[in-house]
Amino acid sequence: MILQEMAQGALALGRDLSGMTFPETIDVSSGAAARTVEFLSEKGHRNAVMACDAATSKVAGTILLDAASSMKLALHPVLIDANAAGDVVADEASVVQLLLSVQQHRATAIVAAGSGTIHDLSRYAAYTASIPFVSVPTAPSVDGFTSLGAPLLIRGMKTTVSAVGPSALFADTDLLRAAPAPLVAAGFGDMLGKFTSLLDWRIEARLGLSPYDEWAAAMTEDALESCIRHAGSIASRSAEGITALTEALIRSGLAMLILGSSNCASGAEHHLSHYWEMELHRTGQRQLLHGAKVGAASALISSLYKRIAASADGTDRYRHGEVVDAAGRKALERHWPEIQEWIGSLPEPGRIRDWLRSVGGPVSAQELGLPEQLVEKSLREADKVRPNRFTLLRAYNRY
Ligand SMILES: [Zn+2]
Repeated sequence: MILQEMAQGALALGRDLSGMTFPETIDVSSGAAARTVEFLSEKGHRNAVMACDAATSKVAGTILLDAASSMKLALHPVLIDANAAGDVVADEASVVQLLLSVQQHRATAIVAAGSGTIHDLSRYAAYTASIPFVSVPTAPSVDGFTSLGAPLLIRGMKTTVSAVGPSALFADTDLLRAAPAPLVAAGFGDMLGKFTSLLDWRIEARLGLSPYDEWAAAMTEDALESCIRHAGSIASRSAEGITALTEALIRSGLAMLILGSSNCASGAEHHLSHYWEMELHRTGQRQLLHGAKVGAASALISSLYKRIAASADGTDRYRHGEVVDAAGRKALERHWPEIQEWIGSLPEPGRIRDWLRSVGGPVSAQELGLPEQLVEKSLREADKVRPNRFTLLRAYNRY
């Protein structure tokens, strides 16, 4: 339903969807996981690997293996090993582990049974092995299930590489409702990040640095608003709340897919999150959930942007020393009154933190356990994580 609605909306606006590959099926419903095996069978797959981790193999894995054995389909579970810090990460070691298993079993498809990391590994391994993958999310924790790019940690650097999207997505609401509470809060945090990502994109477009797409912005905004409306039922993990969150995450992912970039869904808050992630990896510490970082980072960015907008003479905008990009600064100044107004309609940081708290997620870098020094450093350097993306954080550091 989601896919048809979105594709129809996009087509009605005259968007060219030819040449785009979408999942053939997006099924968000109770019991959807078991239908994964039917789908694989229909497509002629008799031999597949199931990428999972110790936790997800217990939940989704059992359902999928039962369904596979009743359909006489060989489904080989691959438990991706945790790294030295105890995390399952999408790094070169995990990629090779999954690829070796695909080769060993001569698998013709991969089932991603897990949350974001398992999906990133599966989409890249499927792309590399030239076979399809099917998505079975076990937690409504990120909006990247349908993404065409895989953010991998290669030698400690976060690098987004080309990959494939899922051939089908089976989001089983029974499984998703049983997901650990922090993962549900993380999905909500990833969605709250859209407040700041949408603003950054608007500014970027106004400065002529990126095309703007009303449709993708509206889709993302609708998904975000639905999450805010359902905050109470997401917190209580009712079927209605979890379905709303899952659909919002999928819609946000599809908006990126149709747009062909992540501009609508990822701005300075994501750059902070990536920066923190690389630092934790570099220093051998446990990773934090993507959406948990994004939610807290969004409140932090809202607070910084409000402060920048409140400075009448702009001094605070240029707090970090000399102007590196004089032309950029001029362009920003030309549009400053309008941008100031947009920042005015961004929710206050306290409001964002209240929403995060209501769903049980961490609300600040402090609650995430990140040292003050790292947070300060990231505010000065995180815009370099994606050199080709403008954000107001970039202006803060360079204009
Ligand atoms: Zn995200």
